[in-house]
Amino acid sequence: MPLEQIIFIYVFGLLGALALLALWNEHRRRGFETLNNDDKVFRCNRCGMVYTDDSDVDRSRCPQCGRTNDPFEY
Ligand SMILES: [Zn+2]
Repeated sequence: MPLEQIIFIYVFGLLGALALLALWNEHRRRGFETLNNDDKVFRCNRCGMVYTDDSDVDRSRCPQCGRTNDPFEY
């Protein structure tokens, strides 16, 4: 195998690995942001626990004491 071909494969493989790593990071970052945007913050009226639930729910049950709460307004 000629040296040029070995170098080409090496560089191409390195670039491919870097591209995959960047794509994976982007995917992970986007997923995290989507998760944050979709979540609604709730604060329990009984025990004061702050927790999150899906954005499509109007009311959510506290995971600590079981009380149903309205979304927490900032
Ligand atoms: Zn509670």
